Amino acid sequence: MICDNLSVKNGHLYFAGRDTTELAARYGTPLYLMDEERLRRNCRVYREAMGRSFASALPLYASKALACRRVYEIIAEEGLGADVVSAGELYLARSAAFPMDKVFFHGNSKTDEEISFAMDCGVGYFIIDNADELAAVERIAAEKGIRQKALLRLTPGIDPHTFAAVSTGQVDSKFGVPIETGQALTFVRQALELPHIHLRGIHAHVGSQVFTSQVFYDTADIMLRFMAELRDKLGYTAEILNLGGGYGVRYTQSDPVVDIAGEIGKVAEHVKAGCAALGLPEPMVLMEPGRSIVADAGLTLYTVQSTKTIPGYRSYVSVDGGMTDNPRYALYHASYTIEPAGRMDDERDFVCTVGGRCCESGDMIQEDVALPRLQRGDLLAVLTTGAYNHSMASNYNTVARPPIVMLSGGRDYVAVRRETFADLAAREL
Ligand SMILES: *Cc1c(COP(=O)(O)O)cnc(C)c1O
Repeated sequence: MICDNLSVKNGHLYFAGRDTTELAARYGTPLYLMDEERLRRNCRVYREAMGRSFASALPLYASKALACRRVYEIIAEEGLGADVVSAGELYLARSAAFPMDKVFFHGNSKTDEEISFAMDCGVGYFIIDNADELAAVERIAAEKGIRQKALLRLTPGIDPHTFAAVSTGQVDSKFGVPIETGQALTFVRQALELPHIHLRGIHAHVGSQVFTSQVFYDTADIMLRFMAELRDKLGYTAEILNLGGGYGVRYTQSDPVVDIAGEIGKVAEHVKAGCAALGLPEPMVLMEPGRSIVADAGLTLYTVQSTKTIPGYRSYVSVDGGMTDNPRYALYHASYTIEPAGRMDDERDFVCTVGGRCCESGDMIQEDVALPRLQRGDLLAVLTTGAYNHSMASNYNTVARPPIVMLSGGRDYVAVRRETFADLAAREL
């Protein structure tokens, strides 16, 4: 099994110690399950390792991975901060009583309304993406008579060699201001001149599904050199260095296991050495894990509705969900592991494409999956779906979104209920 919260008993898949077939029977499918203990454990790995390794540090949960009130509550209880990327996420975080001073507001296209709302919420930090936003934050902070804490988002010019769709650190990016072109230096100078901006530091996020710390070493090297340049040219010492997203997760057996605590320790050594070499004081270091907090704490259950074999081509299995609850295969052919939740001990001699229910040929969950000869009514479990599934879900085909059921110490409870027909019609006038 790809994660130790999965096991098999009597041919049934168990998740967080619970029989997934029983949970499917109780709550119906499609169904998102979340393992609360695993979620908390993932938080603690980052918090404890960062606390131990850096002079000063805070992990921020990148809540776009899974934004719901219960998750914000758990993240707050575990002592992490949070990234939000919209007024909507901020609203949800506030409704969970998330401590606003630990919220960082990201995004490359914040509207005046969102900027104003975030300030009214008392958001801790803006991570300012570009010069237009910098001017808008200054203007709105002045109107409100406040001085807004901020970091500036820079692009260090690194390609992390992952998928193009999830790479963000190269010079040619819609996010942030490049260091290489000299624009970042101007950006910092401008921010320092603004009376209602309190510049606390700099940010870079190079990409996702990062399995080795080399990317963080490279990011830290470039950012620390830039901090030394800021000190030498502008007399400014950045107090906070945000190194961006967290480590990768195991979607399949071929993804490596990352010792996150060990890797964070090595990154901290690298940062320490870099600061010493440049004569910089050690900054407070932030990281922004999203998927590695929630992905392996999640699992999706579906019920098979049909199977068919086209001789000479392939076999299809259609399930009662699809791109509406998990669009990641349709978007960028993301890999997932699929298990026959109620027939774990059966021979897997049926190679098939697991397709969704939507009227879109690209609506697939995965291709070339080896499963038992399935029948209508059989259950399928898609593993590692805690990140970027519920948060990317849609109502395409007017399909209701599944509930999120949390599993915690033998208990199960609904964190987000299943959407109803009334919900689907709620905005119609
Ligand atoms: C998406 C994102 C993250 C989180 O990435 P994960 O791969 O989910 O850990 C962190 N920081 C920024 C700026 C992001 O855009």
